Amino acid sequence: MNHSEQLFAQAAQFIPGGVNSPVRAFKAVGGTPIFLQSAKGARITDVDGKDYIDYVQSWGPMILGHSHPDVIAAVVDAVQSGLTFGAPTERETQLAEIVCKRMPGIDLVRFVNSGTEATMSAIRLARAHTERDTIVKFEGCYHGHSDSLLIKAGSGALTLGVPSSPGVPKALAEHTVTLNYNNSEQVRQFFAEKGDQVACIIIEPVAGNMNCIPPVPGFLQTLREVCDESGSVLIFDEVMTGFRVSATGAQGHYQVQPDLTTLGKVVGGGMPVGAFGGKREIMEKVAPAGPVYQAGTLSGNPVAMAAGIATLELLEAPDFYPELFRKTQKLVTGLQAAADTAGVAFTTNHIGSMFGGFFTQEKTVTNYQQVMACDTERFNRFFHGMLKAGVYLAPASYEAGFMSQAHTDNDIEQTIAAAQKVFASLKDE
Ligand code: PMP
Repeated sequence: MNHSEQLFAQAAQFIPGGVNSPVRAFKAVGGTPIFLQSAKGARITDVDGKDYIDYVQSWGPMILGHSHPDVIAAVVDAVQSGLTFGAPTERETQLAEIVCKRMPGIDLVRFVNSGTEATMSAIRLARAHTERDTIVKFEGCYHGHSDSLLIKAGSGALTLGVPSSPGVPKALAEHTVTLNYNNSEQVRQFFAEKGDQVACIIIEPVAGNMNCIPPVPGFLQTLREVCDESGSVLIFDEVMTGFRVSATGAQGHYQVQPDLTTLGKVVGGGMPVGAFGGKREIMEKVAPAGPVYQAGTLSGNPVAMAAGIATLELLEAPDFYPELFRKTQKLVTGLQAAADTAGVAFTTNHIGSMFGGFFTQEKTVTNYQQVMACDTERFNRFFHGMLKAGVYLAPASYEAGFMSQAHTDNDIEQTIAAAQKVFASLKDE
């Protein structure tokens, strides 16, 4: 038994499944999760002392790479003044101002502690604003684990939702409709029939929880149009895409402005931060400005705000995004060439610094059904081959990968060289 295996066995005695978030347990790919000791730049080090090039980046927040000295310094500085006060501090306004100035759709913003809280609160606000109960989401999108959002499609399109976890009341699930991502026609059809009952559409404007699926041209615009026609609220869940696919998020990149936006991950620079924000007239309904209740003992935590401010300030460097995108492009081009050379059926998607690879014969992947049809067994062997070679990918085929500022060209070349060998071995098996 190596040290990770020992620690995992011990963890399972006290923590359900040995982890505090399910996908960390390597259930999808098999084997034992590596327990991490430390991380610096593009690299993580496990408790057995092995280094990996990391494309998980804590599932997205670490866009600067791990342990950026300026972020660490800002956090240490904040810690020295106290960990939490439960009273207003100036840093909250500083981070709020940066968010409002950068995100086209945000006039006012409220900080929370996770993406789950952000989406849950945005849904409540949209329901209150419209005085309607029905919400529309898309199959394959993940918005955290609050009850209204842990719902999958019923049998066939346009049916009532069903809980995707025990414990979610059926009565609540009936208020959530799940449609097909990138299917504008179905959205229009649904809104023609029931648009006047819809409180909101919530969507990942680039889906990053079914691998990486960008919106097809016109899809986000369709959502904007049907929401305008029906008086429904359009919520972009930019927990993953915010400050990642562009300086102004997916909304800036695709030039479609939502009414509400949820944020997480990058906005907290690696600390537990989420946020929801949007149009002034809607956000002014949030307590204490308005009647929609939402609160948090640790919300706007000074240490977390310090990490967020330091991170967002560093993203302003003029070449920050172009450089990140160049590296992402280099990686996916290299992976594609490696798969082609090995004769392995494989295709990639990428947008900004998010990317995904699919083991499929199809040339383009744009929807959930195609993602579900991919060869997960092949992905699992690829994952373990890469892990052995010192490259840490997300331990499930339904997750986007992330590039950080800290990844060097050399890291990327090393990753591609490892992939060449692993793809070749997949072909033999
Ligand atoms: N929305 C999206 C788009 C996400 O990717 C996630 C988490 N991966 C969440 C919401 C939930 O965020 P958290 O895990 O911080 O609750």
